[in-house]
Amino acid sequence: MFRPPSASSPFDHPRADVVLRSSDNMDFRVFKLFLSLASPFFEALFNLPQPSDENTGNIVEMIDGLPVVPVLEDSGTLDILLRFCYPRTLTPIPPLDHFKNAFNVLEAAKKYSLDEVEKAICEALFNPKILEVDSLRCFAVARRARLRDQTIMAAKYSLREPLIPEWFEEIELVTAADLLALLTYHQKCGSALQQLHVSFSWIEQHYQNQNAVLWILGKATGRGCNCPRAKVAKLFDNQPTLWWEEFMDATFQALKDKPCAHTIHEMIEKTIQEIRRRSCQSCSSNIASVMCEFADLFAKKVEELVSEVELPLRLSGEVGYQFYVSKVGSAETS
Ligand SMILES: [Zn+2]
Repeated sequence: MFRPPSASSPFDHPRADVVLRSSDNMDFRVFKLFLSLASPFFEALFNLPQPSDENTGNIVEMIDGLPVVPVLEDSGTLDILLRFCYPRTLTPIPPLDHFKNAFNVLEAAKKYSLDEVEKAICEALFNPKILEVDSLRCFAVARRARLRDQTIMAAKYSLREPLIPEWFEEIELVTAADLLALLTYHQKCGSALQQLHVSFSWIEQHYQNQNAVLWILGKATGRGCNCPRAKVAKLFDNQPTLWWEEFMDATFQALKDKPCAHTIHEMIEKTIQEIRRRSCQSCSSNIASVMCEFADLFAKKVEELVSEVELPLRLSGEVGYQFYVSKVGSAETS
């Protein structure tokens, strides 16, 4: 007779009292008590008449004298879910680094009324590793679960995506009103940042005098270099280099589509490479360190302005809009 493989420790315990069989045919030998304590669903399930009762009429498979309960989850999902249910002394909380894993486990936790587990998974789902890659999918899940802080955090991370994002599977979970709110938020963030382009007073305030920005003015070695000068831009009443002006123009253009600190770091990286390829000794000599310091200032300003923009989310059943101010401590977008 076919005997499915057993799951790994601690789900292979010889004294377990029930077997859960995953959809891909793996047997998890588990203790009813742990699952019953974690979930009223399991408690009710295990309190049903035992399959060995002859009058139930159900033919239930037994293995080593234990009833086998088939479940719809695959072994990967079930393994994570059960580890969340078991005591910490028997197994640590498994890492959830991929959206798909976390999402499947979350759905299963909901199905089995594992409230505490659901909470723990939500926290695990909204970690930077997942948010950086799957912010829109996280937004969809958080919004659907009415998790306010996580919705804001995911919206903030979604500024790394283009204003009109590519299709993603969970878009079906998002209402048109919520999607409109997200797009509006994204566009407002993009517009808010343009004030930094209109005036460079924030740069002058930070550096205090032109001697601190000689690299922008094409005088990194004290004397002026031969690089062409800016057409419009001015800094401390001086003409910056043309490459710096072009870098700023291109960065503000990119920020309209992806209004976040991450965009700045990308543009800075590109510019450093480009300047190094040029033949100007003066401009390229110390470019990485001065540009990276400038990136930190620029990114800080972007974070400040973005954090003032509200996410206009409509709450179901309420008239009007609830504004979510996006001040969530750990929502780093750099
Ligand atoms: Zn130069």
